[in-house]
Parts: sequence; C-alpha cells; structure tokens
Amino acid sequence: MQLFDTLSRERKELRPSDGKTFRFYCCGPTVYGPAHIGNFRTFVLQDVFRRTLETGGTPTLHVRNLTDVDDKTIRDSQAAGQTLKAFTDKWRDKFHTDCEALACLAPHIEPSAVEHIPQQIAMIEKLIEKGNAYASEDGSVYFRISSFPGYGKLSRLDERELDLGKTQATRANSADEYEKDSISDFVLWKSRREDDGENFWSSPWGEGRPGWHLECSAMIEEYLGNSFDLHSGGEDLVFPHHENEIAQSKCACGGNFAEHWFHPTHLLVDGGKMSKSKGNLYTIADLAEKGFTAMEVRYVLIGAHYRKQLNFTLDSLAGAKEALAKLAKSAAKLAENMGGETALPSADFGVFQPAWDALNDDLNTPGALGGIFTGLREASKLTGKDAAAALAGLNRILKALGITLPEISQATTDIPADIQQLADTRWAARSSKDWASSDKLRDELTAKGWAMKDGKDSYELTKL
Ligand code: AMP
Ligand code: ZN
Repeated sequence: MQLFDTLSRERKELRPSDGKTFRFYCCGPTVYGPAHIGNFRTFVLQDVFRRTLETGGTPTLHVRNLTDVDDKTIRDSQAAGQTLKAFTDKWRDKFHTDCEALACLAPHIEPSAVEHIPQQIAMIEKLIEKGNAYASEDGSVYFRISSFPGYGKLSRLDERELDLGKTQATRANSADEYEKDSISDFVLWKSRREDDGENFWSSPWGEGRPGWHLECSAMIEEYLGNSFDLHSGGEDLVFPHHENEIAQSKCACGGNFAEHWFHPTHLLVDGGKMSKSKGNLYTIADLAEKGFTAMEVRYVLIGAHYRKQLNFTLDSLAGAKEALAKLAKSAAKLAENMGGETALPSADFGVFQPAWDALNDDLNTPGALGGIFTGLREASKLTGKDAAAALAGLNRILKALGITLPEISQATTDIPADIQQLADTRWAARSSKDWASSDKLRDELTAKGWAMKDGKDSYELTKL
C-alpha cells in the first residue's frame, strides 16, 4: 500500500518495519463531550486505513489513546459537578458506542492519560536529566525547544516562527492548545492551581498534572517503543501537538519515532467550519434524530479523498442512503444470479480489482466507491459460479471499507404485479415526456400506497 507522508511530503510504500505487524498510533478523542462528525472523519479514515492493510494480509497493532485529563476535561467535569473519572468514563463509553455504530474496529490497545501518570513523570525526569527540560520556580516544567534542532520539521516552521520560540514559557501561557504565533517552550508538567480542583498528582516538582502533549509520547514509549511504523491524527494536530511529541520522544528515548505520518484534512460542514453557534456541529445522535444511520454517515465520510476537503451536508447524507440501498439491491441481484453456486475460496477481487487498487493508491476511498459501482455493472451480466466469485469480491472490498449493506425492505422486493405494471407504464410515459399521464399514474400509485422515485436511468418503488 502506498500512502502520502506528511513529514517527507512524499508517497511511500508501507511495510511493517519488524517484517510482521504494522504498528501504528492514533491520537484519540478528548472525552469531554460527544465526538462530532469531524472527529469521526479522522477516526473512520484511520479505520479504513487499518482495514486495507489487514485485508491485504498485513496484521496490525493499533494503539489509540484517550485524553482524560487536560484543560477541557477538567473544566467541563467541574461544570457538570462530577469527578473527572465519572465524567470522562461517561463520554468514553459514548464514544465507544458511536465507534461501534460506525463499524470502526476497536484499537488493540486503548491507554488513557490518567492511567499513565508515572510514565509521564519518568519521561520528564529523563528530559530534565538530558538538558531538554527545566523546572520553573512555581513547580511547572517546560520543554526547551532550542535544545532540539529538529523542532519544526514536520510542520515546516520557518526561521521567523522559530525565532518566536525564543520566548520563555510561563505558567500563564501554558495552554494545551496554541497557534504558531505563540510558540514558546511548552509545558510538560503544570503546577497545581486552584481551578484544577481534586485533579492533581505528586511529582518531584510538587503537585500538579501533565501537559497534554506529553501523554502520547509516554504511551507510545510504553506500547510501541522508540520507533514504530505510522502516527496519525487530524491535520490540526500537526502543529503543535505532533511537533511537540517528536521533540519529547526523540530527546527522551532516541530512535526514529514515527516512520510515517498520516493526517486527514478537516471536515467542513455547509462549506465552513463546524460550530455550535451555527448549529451545524453534528453528532451521530443528532443525525439519527434526522433519520440517518451511522452507516450512512460513514459512507459520506469516506466519500472524499482524505487529502481533499470534504464538505458535509444533509443532502450528501440523503445521497448516501440512496447509494447504500442501490448497493444492497445489486448485491441481492448478484446472489440471485448465482443460482445456488458458491464461490471457490480465493483472495481475488475479480471485477472489483480497480476498487481495491484505488484503496492501495494513497487510500483513494472515493475511487474505491466508484470502482464498486463500475464493478457491479459488469457483474450484473454474470451468472452461476462467476456471479458467486463476483459477490465474494464485492464482500471483500466492502469489508475493507467497513461498509455493511442495509437490509432490503420487503417493500422494495415484493412488488405486486399490477403495481409493477402501473409503474412501468408511468416510466414509459415519463420517458416520452408525456407529463400529464405520468402525473396521473403517479397519483394512482400513491392512492394504492406506493411511492415512485425517479432516478436518472431507472426508478425506485417503495411502500408508503
Ligand atoms: P479531539 O477529541 O479534539 O482530541 O480530536 C480527536 C481527533 O479528531 C483528532 O485526530 C483531531 O485532529 C480530529 N478532528 C477534530 N476536528 C476535526 C474535523 N473538523 N475534521 C476532521 N478531524 C477532526
Ligand atoms: Zn497525540
């Protein structure tokens, strides 16, 4: 499989460095509320990435953390009047439910920041020992970015921006998230403050809590060592989060850290950034309320290439519903055409080979979806064993994309002969632009309890 690498700006062939298992790390959710469909664009694409490797015969080790202590989790747990643990456990469980509905495979290891405080403290101690970090008077500890010459390579910081990094950090400017114009030494350990409430731990520098960037470095060292195959997160994590992870890990542990970086671009909604105030920050639950399944959401999320912008609209969800129904019908037809034959075991994709090739070509998910529809047109001519082989190929490529097809409703399969005839007559009238008859026949169908939906080349009948 070939994939673009953010660090080298090149497409590279992916191979497990240990010759066996492809070991990769994804920055996980901050569990302080329901994840939104933007977050899920990233998680679903990471899932398709993993499934593609596995379908191609490469076993994986997928590590994804839970951020359960940071500025936001502490702030919102206090606002909710709950302990940090009760609060983050609740949102973790909700995240898992959504992931399952979206058919995202659970990571093999899902460590949490709070469960790895000793490892984080040990990493800070190493960094201080090696001269890469310093404690300040108030008991906070900072990473000295001038001590790491590679700082800024991933996000291509220029000289001017690195110059800004000469500012010394203080507890006052040690927010977990910041922009390029406020680069400074960044915080590894935050000394205890009153608004942290009960959320503090003892350390050699006094009570406090870890800074956000440190947790991934510590958990990566624990589960993947100092060199591993790939690291991923949404594009917003390139700077500062991943830049800081590289600095901490390389200075503390040596090694190459990640061999490859995979950063899907951000999801837009209605052409802009999602925001609560615009009312377009959708969760899976919000969309379920509007009548859309998580699988339909998944279909939309993989509908654009991960390096291109994806603009999410409710119309695109309606389109996904139609596409999935069409796929389900074609698959059912293919099964019918098998006439009782079964496919011989094989790892072939048959007429779906172009779809599979697209996935292996920089994870081209829209190309794969297109290839499925083209393959189905070819497969519709096949019968017996050939149809069986095509169906097996279809199931293999759907599994790689993590798509499960909806049940075909009785309404669309068992259409009474008189209804079918009426619909055919109406379609003929419509095709010859006899709009009056077409409208009249549609009314007749409606009166008999059937809705006729016109497509470009065919129509669909559903029971009202
Ligand atoms: P968070 O829960 O904020 O830590 O984010 C979890 C993951 O979602 C990270 O990999 C983010 O980069 C990613 N993410 C956040 N917003 C979006 C978005 N609008 N589109 C795609 N990915 C996003
Ligand atoms: Zn991370």
